[in-house]
Amino acid sequence: MTSKYWSPLVSELDPYKPGEQPKKQNVIKLNTNESPYGPSPKALQAMREACNDNLRLYPSFTSDRVRRAVSARLDVSFEQVFVGNGSDEVLAHTFNAFFHQSRPLLFPDISYSFYPTYCGLYGIAFTPVPVTQDFRIEPADFLPGAAHGPAGGIIVPNPNAPTGRALSLAEIERIVAGNPQCAVVIDEAYVDFGAESAVPLTSKYDNLLVVQTLSKSRALAGLRVGFAIGSPELIEGLNRVKDSFNSYPVDSLAEIGAAAAIEDTDHFEQTRRAVMKTRDELDAALRKLGFEAPRSLTNFIFARHPDHDAAKLAAGLREHGILVRHFRRPRIDQYLRISIGTDEECALLVKALSELLA
Ligand SMILES: *Cc1c(COP(=O)(O)O)cnc(C)c1O
Repeated sequence: MTSKYWSPLVSELDPYKPGEQPKKQNVIKLNTNESPYGPSPKALQAMREACNDNLRLYPSFTSDRVRRAVSARLDVSFEQVFVGNGSDEVLAHTFNAFFHQSRPLLFPDISYSFYPTYCGLYGIAFTPVPVTQDFRIEPADFLPGAAHGPAGGIIVPNPNAPTGRALSLAEIERIVAGNPQCAVVIDEAYVDFGAESAVPLTSKYDNLLVVQTLSKSRALAGLRVGFAIGSPELIEGLNRVKDSFNSYPVDSLAEIGAAAAIEDTDHFEQTRRAVMKTRDELDAALRKLGFEAPRSLTNFIFARHPDHDAAKLAAGLREHGILVRHFRRPRIDQYLRISIGTDEECALLVKALSELLA
């Protein structure tokens, strides 16, 4: 569709396509990397108690409760924390605040498909940096060198999505230290499932911004809270964009629930460990069926079967009432991205797959 009322830019946009949220009940939903477990009961209780007349007031415009909780939990200063309406919003502000440069933005050719969408929205030039055949990100490819000059900006998910592979902290530091001329953003949406966080490096490097979310490891995708950690100058850049867009992106209930969830370390540890255990068991079960997958440090497995078409497998699983994600994109169109569910859900997935392969 097109319309004469649209701004010229709108006709050119290529919006992000989120995974399906089915209306039917009884679907096994392994397609959007949500947690199979509920959020912290303490967070739910805090939000219930906050349903009162205070909702007539605007929330803190810098989400100070969340900033305090993040600062205590991750051992960074309050001034180093920025909070937004999901990390997608934090990322959008990041692109707007730091990546309009004369030189192009760099990110891996296989990574979060929202990045090129933000570039389209904000008119940011970018150069995809190919990952290796086995989906490894080569840090040297992000350093100023033969392939390209100094970057105008860099964003890398760690672990990467949708491949599940992670870089070590030393490799991340190489990229950050080698690019003092630009902001380097590490998108840590999945870091709590076994990778090393770059947060400790933020006190050493003014150009490093680390973005995290409560949507995956804290089971609060529906609440929409994400945050960034970086030097005061990067945080101030984000605040300038936010306050030119929406001063109150995080509502009062979300602020209270997010802070309580971050403080509930017991629930967090218990659920993330359960997800990692199920992931490693599912990884073994898929290999037994002949699937190949890079070693995942996330809450999903990115797998292909050498003898079976991925689109057909996804369609077959759908008939079994199981949703997984399949991307019709070059290099990865033979892969399925399977979110880690409960043990029961994963057992049903394995059963359905063995039937489809037979
Ligand atoms: C899920 C995801 C996000 C977005 O998370 P929200 O906080 O729910 O907006 C950001 N980056 C990557 C790589 C993701 O997979």
